[in-house]
Amino acid sequence: MTTLVLASSNPGKLQEMKEYFANVKWQLQLKPQDLEVEETGRTFLENASLKASLVALALNQYTIADDSGLSVRALGGAPGIYSARYAPTDALCIEKLLKELENSSDRVAEFVCALAVSDPNGQIILTSQGKCQGIILKKPQGERGFGYDPIFYLPEYGETFAQMDPDLKSRLSHRGIAFASLLPALIELEKSI
Ligand code: IMP
Repeated sequence: MTTLVLASSNPGKLQEMKEYFANVKWQLQLKPQDLEVEETGRTFLENASLKASLVALALNQYTIADDSGLSVRALGGAPGIYSARYAPTDALCIEKLLKELENSSDRVAEFVCALAVSDPNGQIILTSQGKCQGIILKKPQGERGFGYDPIFYLPEYGETFAQMDPDLKSRLSHRGIAFASLLPALIELEKSI
């Protein structure tokens, strides 16, 4: 069984990835904590590719990386690749975003997730991107999830990501879409090496 390193030190991310890749034969493992990569890219895909490539080169192993965030149309795509660093806590990120959008009638936003897989030489060999569109509410609703979930509302479902059943969120979300689209190529890759 071939090892696929996840370019993250977050056990929660590893668990989530194992669920998305339940039918994949790769042996998934986290990168070492002291192997840090700076996210200097200008897009989600550039950042995912940078992380996958540098970790793969350092460890000489196949590596997958993700990068995701929320892009709000009326804010020109902000917070975008800076979603995690927009404010010190999730609650403050939400507060800041709602303040920025205060007078805007355009509440359209999308979550984006980019995935990149590198070979052991640092060459990016697979990529995918998933997007999920929604509306930014004026007040948070729901207790589940993380990040911007309580203000991200899906009109077709009549609830926010923070109110939604987690299995349904997994299927609809930017991450779910990106993983589902990468899966067939990842299975083929495993068979070919
Ligand atoms: P990461 O690249 O997956 O670590 O995500 C970066 C940031 O984007 C997170 O810290 C969250 O603020 C935000 N984000 C990404 N995905 C989600 C999501 O599914 N729900 C809420 N916030 C998210």
